[in-house]
Amino acid sequence: MVGPGMERERERESERESELEIVLRRVGLPPRVSARIASMGLTVEDILATPSRELASKLRIDRKVADRLIRTAAEVASTPKPASHVPRRRILSLGVRSVDGLLGGGLSEGSFVELYGEPGSGKTQFALHLCVRAMLPQERGGLGGGSVYIDTEGGFSAARLREMAEGQGVPPDLALSSVRVVRARSVPSLMASLDAADGLVREGEAVLVVIDSLLAPFRLDYRGMGELAERQHALAEALAIVRRTTARGGIVLATNQVVGGREKRPAGGYVLGHAPDVVLSIRRSLGLRRILGVVDSSFLPEGEVLLAITRRGLEDVDEKL
Ligand code: ATP
Ligand code: MG
Repeated sequence: MVGPGMERERERESERESELEIVLRRVGLPPRVSARIASMGLTVEDILATPSRELASKLRIDRKVADRLIRTAAEVASTPKPASHVPRRRILSLGVRSVDGLLGGGLSEGSFVELYGEPGSGKTQFALHLCVRAMLPQERGGLGGGSVYIDTEGGFSAARLREMAEGQGVPPDLALSSVRVVRARSVPSLMASLDAADGLVREGEAVLVVIDSLLAPFRLDYRGMGELAERQHALAEALAIVRRTTARGGIVLATNQVVGGREKRPAGGYVLGHAPDVVLSIRRSLGLRRILGVVDSSFLPEGEVLLAITRRGLEDVDEKL
C-alpha cells in the first residue's frame, strides 16, 4: 500500500527528479510514449503550450490521456518549489558601463526584450553586439553560447559581425560559426524560424534569439485595417513561440520600427505592447552617440543613458566620441 506519507517520501527522494520526470511518473504513461516525449525533447512548458488535440496527435495518444498529461503538467508546474529548484538566471552583460547600469547589470536569461527606434538609430548594431557578447565566457560577462539571428529585413552583415567580434576579443571565425542566420520575409517563414530557434535553445545550441525586425513580415503579409484582426492573431501566435523560448531561459531580442508623427511609438499595437519584459528605445544623438532608454519594464526604473556605436560595437562615451 502506498499511503500519503510514502508518496511524500517518494517525492522527497526524487528532489533531483526533473519536473518532466515527475509529470511522467504521475501520469503513468506507457514506456513507449514516455520515450517518444524524451526523444522529442518536450518540456513541461511545451506540454502546457500545446493544444490538447495537437498533443494527442503528436504523441499518438488518446485525447483523454493528453488532457490528463496537460492537467498533471499544470499541477506540477504550479506547485511551489524550494528556491533551490528555481532555475538560476544568468545575466548577459553588454560590456558597456552606462548600458549595463541602465539594465541592472545586463539582460537576464529568460527575458523578452523589445528595442525600437528610427531607421539608422542602431537597432541592428545593438543586436549584432549582443550576439558577440553572448558567446563570451561567463567570466567576461557573456553566456558562452550561440545565437540565432532571424533577419527579416536583410540588415544582417557577416562582415560587421566579424569586425565587432575582433573588437570584443572573440575569434571572428568563432563568431561566424556560433551565430546562425536565417532570412525570413513572410509570416509563415518567421513562424518556422522561431520554431527552429526554439529547438536550438532547447538543445543548448543557442542562448539568444534575435528577430530583426519582428513586424516587417507582418507588414508585408497583412495590409490595411481590413486585415488587422488577422495580423494581430498571427502576431500573438509568434509571441507564443517567443514565450516558449524565454520559458526555457533563452533571451529573445526583437527590434521594432516606430510609427507616429511627433510622438514616436513602437509599431505593433496592443498585442506586442504587453508582451516584452523590457522595452528599450534607441535614438540618435551627436555623431556616433546614441541615447538608449528603458521605456517600460516590470523590474527596472525608466531612464536614459548615452553610448556610442563604433567599429568595435557599442561602447561607453568618452571625450573622443
Ligand atoms: P533600420 O531601421 O534601417 O534597420 P537600424 O536601427 O537597424 O536601422 P543600424 O543599421 O543598426 O540602424 O545602424 C546604422 C548606423 O550604425 C549607421 O548609420 C552608423 O552610424 C552606425 N554604424 C554602422 N556600422 C558602423 C561601423 N562599422 N562603425 C561605426 N558605426 C557604424
Ligand atoms: Mg536594422
